[in-house]
Amino acid sequence: MSQTKIENGTIVSLDPDVGQLETGDVLIDDGEIVEIDERVEGSADTVIDATGKIVLPGFVDSHIHMAQTQVRGIAGDWSLMNEYFDHMLGNITGLYQPEDHYLGGLFGAFEKLHTGTTTALDWSYPNTLEHGERAVDALQDAGLRAVYTYGPPGDDAATWWYESDVGLPEENVRELYDEQIRDDDLVSLALGLRGPDFCVDETAIDDLELARDLGVLSTIHMGAAQWTSSMYNDAYQGFGCLADRLGPDVNVAHGNHFTQDDVQHAVDAGVSFSSTPEVEMQMGHGIPVAGKVLAAGGRPTWGVDVCSNISGDMGSQMRIGMQVQRMLDNQPILEGGEEVTGVSLTCRDTLEMATIEGAKALGLADEIGTLTPGKRADVVLFDGDDFLTAPNHDPIETVVFQADPSHIDTVLVDGEVVKRDGELLNPLVADEFDRFVASGRRLVEESGIYA
Ligand SMILES: [Zn+2]
Repeated sequence: MSQTKIENGTIVSLDPDVGQLETGDVLIDDGEIVEIDERVEGSADTVIDATGKIVLPGFVDSHIHMAQTQVRGIAGDWSLMNEYFDHMLGNITGLYQPEDHYLGGLFGAFEKLHTGTTTALDWSYPNTLEHGERAVDALQDAGLRAVYTYGPPGDDAATWWYESDVGLPEENVRELYDEQIRDDDLVSLALGLRGPDFCVDETAIDDLELARDLGVLSTIHMGAAQWTSSMYNDAYQGFGCLADRLGPDVNVAHGNHFTQDDVQHAVDAGVSFSSTPEVEMQMGHGIPVAGKVLAAGGRPTWGVDVCSNISGDMGSQMRIGMQVQRMLDNQPILEGGEEVTGVSLTCRDTLEMATIEGAKALGLADEIGTLTPGKRADVVLFDGDDFLTAPNHDPIETVVFQADPSHIDTVLVDGEVVKRDGELLNPLVADEFDRFVASGRRLVEESGIYA
């Protein structure tokens, strides 16, 4: 049992019972938060001086494809229905060898940790079982808390994405779960379903039933392009054959084209939504679903999604997602001839969507998402005393609007310090860097997208 004490920081717990402490300590014992108070007496094996720092729960990214990390910076001018489907799903994902999944996942996880995300749902396209094994190895080697999402293989878009009648490879899923995930404290499993947008009803239902048999989360790309809005005729059209099968173990990525009734139906059934605003605004998904989720009485979560396109930094998503929603809420007031006299979402709201709401969506709210005694210690320390962040009048506003990843000083996952004084501690960051770069160069070259 080792104890770590974070001392003298500004504590933003996001737990209403713990509140916000202008100066306080956090005591961690064997990876669990055991005490948060203005002063925690006694010594600890490791003491982290948090003077001038803002101490808060790590971000939760509820939707990202981390294997794309080594092809980052190619998709910034892409649309979803043209280049993304042709170049990424129809070309590059098929070129991945198991080692490419490892290297993308590893450096994707390092990017997460470096930028303050301590938990991510990593939506994967494993071409074979070995691809999946190496993707999980990467998450485990990096020390990220993660929900590894076994989606359809990435090597044959025609089979897996266009009215597919082929179910997820059950034997591989079960083997990966039993061999590598079931007993892991940090990595859990989800199934990446195609859903009715991409496969026939029977297959969509079979995949959901497989996830339920395993007792794991189902996460589905839905309603992310114009054509999905005219697919079905009945009520709850966006959910099609799944409309009567929804529950809290279902997560929807995007959902832009759902009607308010669709979203209400889903929120009432306990479905969570992953809104990925920056990618959606670029690639033609449509208006982010966050506003409809809020109007239905739910709370959205934020995700990065396509990291071949944008940075994996969750700070950008919580800022952009909130500002877009504020704009959308302001506009009808202005069009009605009135002045806007307040904001619809607060900085605390968006920070909660980037932390505790993400944890709820992934079924992890009992473990993470707030700084709460009894939860695991996934903690981030932001520098609030830098010339860009001082004088830190309001720590939540500082984190949401003023700080950037360069202000993330220290990160702990499950009580383990993974970043200290602004540097990741994992030796693989240096040891695997050349292989990571070589993997990215090979994939882009073989794809011929620049030829
Ligand atoms: Zn996605």
